[in-house]
Amino acid sequence: MTATRVAVVASDGSARTGRVHTGRGSYRIPAFMPVGTRGAVKALDSADLDGLGVEVVLANTYHLMLRPGVEEIAALGGIHRFTGWSGHALTDSGGYQVHSLHPVVDDDGVEFTSVYDGAKLHLTPEGAVEAQGRIGADIQMVLDVCTTLPAEPGALRQAVERTAVWAGRARRHHRTFVDRPEGQALFGIVQGGTDPVLRVESARRTVEIGFDGYGIGGLSVGEPREAMLEALAATVPELPPDLPRYLMGVGDPVGLVEAIGLGIDQFDCVAPTRMARHGSILTGRGRLNLRNAAHTRDDTPLDESCGCSTCLRWSKGYLRHLLLVGEPTAWRLLSIHNLAQLLLLMEQARSAIAAGRFESFRSRVAAVWAP
Ligand SMILES: [Zn+2]
Repeated sequence: MTATRVAVVASDGSARTGRVHTGRGSYRIPAFMPVGTRGAVKALDSADLDGLGVEVVLANTYHLMLRPGVEEIAALGGIHRFTGWSGHALTDSGGYQVHSLHPVVDDDGVEFTSVYDGAKLHLTPEGAVEAQGRIGADIQMVLDVCTTLPAEPGALRQAVERTAVWAGRARRHHRTFVDRPEGQALFGIVQGGTDPVLRVESARRTVEIGFDGYGIGGLSVGEPREAMLEALAATVPELPPDLPRYLMGVGDPVGLVEAIGLGIDQFDCVAPTRMARHGSILTGRGRLNLRNAAHTRDDTPLDESCGCSTCLRWSKGYLRHLLLVGEPTAWRLLSIHNLAQLLLLMEQARSAIAAGRFESFRSRVAAVWAP
C-alpha cells in the first residue's frame, strides 16, 4: 500500500490529467509547484499562494535545516503551521543544494561546509528522511547523488549506483522512523544523466525498491532540450502508471509542455519568481522585458488576458516604475503574475488533455516560445 495514488481522469497519448491522492488530500496534475526556498516563496506569503490556487509548494530541506533548524520547525508545529500553509508541502532532500557546495561524497553520505558559520555538516540518506520527517512534509524526496552535465560515464555510473543504495537505505529508514508512513510519502529519484540506458537501469532499480512516487533528477542542468527529452522518454515507461512522476527543476513553458507530453505529472522551478524579480515577465504571447523603456507610459496590464490580481489592478507603467526604483512590492506583484501564468499553462494543459487536443496545444506553446 503506497501513501499516494494517481487517479487518471483522461489521457491523450502519454500525457495524462487527473489527481494525485495523498495522506493530506489530493492535488490536480499536471501540477506546477512554486519553490519556497526558506519557508516562503520569495516575496510572497501563503495567502498569496492560496489566492493563486497553488496546491503543492516545495520547501528546501537544506536551507531549513541550517536556519532555523528542523527541531525549531518541529517545535513550531511543523512546516504547515510554521508557514501558515494548508496545502501540500513537498521537501527536497537537500542533496541538490549540497551538490553545489562541492561536498565530499562517500558511500555513507555527503559532508559539506555550512555557508553560514563554516561548520562541517554530514547528510546521510537516513538523516535526510529524519529531517524531512521532523519538518513535516507531505512528500519527502530521497537523498540522491547529483552529477554535473556533461559528466564522465564513470561518474554517472557511480551516481546511479550510490543513488540506488541510498534509496534502499532511505526506504528502510522511512518505514521505521516516520510515525505515519501512510501520511508522509517518500519519492525515489531516477538519475543517469542524459544516457538512456543508465536512465532505464536507474528507473528499474528505484522501482524495485518501491516508492510512493518517482522524481527524475539531474536534468535541465544545461544539456540540450532534445537530450533531456530523450532521457525522459526512456525513463517514463519504466515507472508505475498509478504513481506520480515528478520532473525536478523544470519550469520553462516549452520544457513543461514537452515533458507533460511524455507523461510527467509535476514540476518545480525557481525560474518564474526569479525572472519576475528581474522584470522578465511571462505572457500568453511570450516573454516581455518590463525594464524596456517602451513600457514607461504603458497603461495596459502585463497581459490583457491574464486574470491575476496584479493584471486586474495595475499597469505596466506603474509596475515598471516600482521595479526600477527597487520597491519590494514590485517583486511581489510580478511574482504573482509569473506564477499565475505558469499555473494557467497547467490548467490549459489539463483541459487540452481532457479534450483530446494536447498535440495542438503543445505546438501552439512551442510556436509562442520559439527562440
Ligand atoms: Zn497577470
